[in-house]
Amino acid sequence: MNVDKLVDKFDRDHLWHPYTSAVDPLPTYKVKRAEGCVITLADGTRLIDGMSSWWCAVHGYNRPELNEAIERQLKDMAHVMFGGLTHEPAIALGKKLLQIVPPSMRHIFYADSGSVAVEVALKMAVQYQYAMGHSGKSNFVTIRSGYHGDTWNAMSVCDPVTGMHSLFGPALPVRWFAPAPESHFGGEWDESDILPLRGIMEKHHEELAGLILEPIVQGAGGMRFYHPQYLREAAKLCREYGVLLLFDEIATGFGRTGKLFAWEHAGVEPDIMCIGKALTGGYMTFSAVLANARVAEGISSCEPRVFMHGPTFMGNPLACSVACASIDLLLSYGWQEKVERIEAQLRRELEPARMLPQVADVRVLGAIGVIETKREVDMAWMQRRFVEEGIWIRPFGRLAYVMPPFVISPDELTKLTSGLVKIVSETKLDSDLPETQISAD
Ligand SMILES: *Cc1c(COP(=O)(O)O)cnc(C)c1O
Repeated sequence: MNVDKLVDKFDRDHLWHPYTSAVDPLPTYKVKRAEGCVITLADGTRLIDGMSSWWCAVHGYNRPELNEAIERQLKDMAHVMFGGLTHEPAIALGKKLLQIVPPSMRHIFYADSGSVAVEVALKMAVQYQYAMGHSGKSNFVTIRSGYHGDTWNAMSVCDPVTGMHSLFGPALPVRWFAPAPESHFGGEWDESDILPLRGIMEKHHEELAGLILEPIVQGAGGMRFYHPQYLREAAKLCREYGVLLLFDEIATGFGRTGKLFAWEHAGVEPDIMCIGKALTGGYMTFSAVLANARVAEGISSCEPRVFMHGPTFMGNPLACSVACASIDLLLSYGWQEKVERIEAQLRRELEPARMLPQVADVRVLGAIGVIETKREVDMAWMQRRFVEEGIWIRPFGRLAYVMPPFVISPDELTKLTSGLVKIVSETKLDSDLPETQISAD
């Protein structure tokens, strides 16, 4: 295969792609079609998808049920404003969501993307504290190795090393960071793990509106899986110090970690929760921020009595319709069995990689399989080798990982895992690349 032939010149010259140069970009492969778990490139090359398009496409691509939901809605209306108007797709989606999220979540704010959901959640927390008479409580605490999106305030609570703090540093609000939990998911709980967070809360609670974190699985900030006890302890601290607990379930939601939402691993309910990504089964950008009665009533108890946010495309009917269809589909086809099967197969087939001299760690949780290498990978080389192997996996830093659609067949998954292990085993051993710390641990 001539990979270079797949690079489109206009695209190369004019289209910005995520995290690559505008003038000297890494190659981008042109896709003609995607169906099920197969992405077909312009030259007919078929790739088994290991990314679910960044956690989104849990049902694979081109699902008739989801296509149909959008087509049906399109005949009525693509969009109407949500200010002063409402519609059945928004109401139906709200009813479905309240059945699957933490029981204390009662109020839903629809937003446009994950990052915007995080902005909205942070604003809610600040406005709640203001309404309670704590206008000094306007800052946030979080843990290292987190990822919460690329907009301004979402960026400010991302990991300060792997995030963009060095670049935007002086322009970013300064947050409090506790070290990422050291106690692994499935391992022993070390009581000292919570002490740094406790220390920050004790000293700075008078300026803290909320604690934001990704429950159990830290995604793009390091692909780390941590102990549920950390969340229980963190929730206690939040209650003790009048700090709101914010969960970012944008990556972990909708079954990915083996529970419908990751908070269930710990049984800890947040005050505010963000969902997105797989919410529409990967069809459209859409997200939601959920709040408990305490937050919603608190904000409403004090002038201006309204929450100050209202995106133009709030509650978009096409997005709500496809989200309804996606949730119905997820709940109809035994997602839990599928995720358990993927988890067992990932454990079996990735475990041998632990013996490779290139590999620092192998970890699996739900439908997420991670190989952490000792050295930073050569992304362009590795990406090309994956494509040559007929699989789509996008590595970064010292991480090569898969999070396939739940509908992947055992054979397709074996192709993914064997390709992944093979290419990792081909990576240079005595490269002179520095040993970079990606997961900041
Ligand atoms: C992807 C992601 C976001 C940002 O979502 P976008 O839709 O890309 O803005 C926020 N938080 C987490 C945990 C994510 O994985």
